[in-house]
Amino acid sequence: MKFYISLHGFLVSLITMISPLALQAQQPVNPFGHALIPDMIADASIQVIDGVFYCYATTDGYDNGLKTSGPPVLWKSKDFVHWSFSGTYFPSAVGQKYWAPSKAVAANGKYYLYPTVNGFMYAAVAASPDGPFRLASGPDTFYAPFTAATLLKSKNGKPPYGIDAEIFIDDDQQAYIYWQRRKAAKLHADMTTVDTNEMTISTPHTSYSEGPIFFKRKGIYYYLYTIGGAEKYQYAYVTSKVSPLGPFEFPKGNNVISTTDYDRQIYGPGHGCVFNMPGTNDYYFAYLEFGRGSTNRQTYVNKLEFDEEGAIRAVKLTMDGVGALLPEKTPARKKIIHMNASSIRPALNIKPEGDSLLHRTEEFDPLFAVDGANGSRWMASPADSACWIMADLGKTAKITRSELYFVRPTAGHAYVLEYSKDGQTWMACGGHADIKMQSPHTDELNIHARYLRARITQGVKGVWEWNIY
Ligand code: CA
Repeated sequence: MKFYISLHGFLVSLITMISPLALQAQQPVNPFGHALIPDMIADASIQVIDGVFYCYATTDGYDNGLKTSGPPVLWKSKDFVHWSFSGTYFPSAVGQKYWAPSKAVAANGKYYLYPTVNGFMYAAVAASPDGPFRLASGPDTFYAPFTAATLLKSKNGKPPYGIDAEIFIDDDQQAYIYWQRRKAAKLHADMTTVDTNEMTISTPHTSYSEGPIFFKRKGIYYYLYTIGGAEKYQYAYVTSKVSPLGPFEFPKGNNVISTTDYDRQIYGPGHGCVFNMPGTNDYYFAYLEFGRGSTNRQTYVNKLEFDEEGAIRAVKLTMDGVGALLPEKTPARKKIIHMNASSIRPALNIKPEGDSLLHRTEEFDPLFAVDGANGSRWMASPADSACWIMADLGKTAKITRSELYFVRPTAGHAYVLEYSKDGQTWMACGGHADIKMQSPHTDELNIHARYLRARITQGVKGVWEWNIY
């Protein structure tokens, strides 16, 4: 019997050594797939400006539910695959609860944004879509709960409630604004005042709604609105062939375009956007996914398809990503044969908000830092006060660049990058001692090494992705 066990153990070791299948079986599972951005973001608005993708969003992952948010940052990409940001685009809003900034709207020779700050919508303005944005009227200062610069004006002394602005400019240049609870109105030419003649859009679903999306395609106006929330978030729609303020028609067939898909394990596909690739008939639907529990949402993108009459087909939700939408020459990443780290955070069982069918566990293996997926990450153990992650190339090679996408990059990081030929003697080659708020943190290198190691000295101890070239 003893012999049998040791033989069995030997065989298992042998199989583990030689079988790629056995190796694959050891790989930890990533239930979060290919999120668009290597961070937690919600309420994304995506657009193309001068051949560059701009993504304004709510920064999630700050661990206090709807009571908070991260700072406003602008993720940009040339190809829709590699995304980056640097600093904030709206300095006075840092530290406020900053949600759903909408798109940058070009008008009057400027750019306007319509974020919800501390629960109230504001117009902000900048000379460039990159910012810096400031409040469009009055002093550029926020004071709780709201200021005189709100977009909707207080009536009868009541707070000017309304969140989640969506702006649409029709072919005749008239601007419209849509917001929470199916409200809509014209926006005056100054882009900072709303016509007092507001309406409520009639829809087949009449429960609470937010996160409106509005666009025009082939002469049809589409109004998309959310129903439900958390893991039960959904999008439904109505259309008009008459005007951006209706009258709206209810779809004859299916009117819910996104809903939880238990087979694919995608929960609460809600507040996001629709964007069209300029010069094409390709439309994309970006949505937040609620499967991380609370405001730890990530954003995913799938294609939006229409039938011949212009009805929107229910979106086939996947977490695979849509790949590059514009060509961009990127060198191949170095192959990593082994990853190591100072510690690994214990697996996390996701706590559902309102759907007991959500069963997800997040693992934090260092392999997740080099799997090419923005939904998976390595995290160090919370008690690890000297954390590091190390990549082993298998043999000494020339390394020209390192790009580190840290977890919660909007809070800033400091780190030391080191290299080694033998794994014993280490030399510093990059990083910075001051805390910088950006992603990725890039080091141009000219070294020959087998090992590269990042020691995180400030900031959240985790890495979504690490590109080594
Ligand atoms: Ca990853």
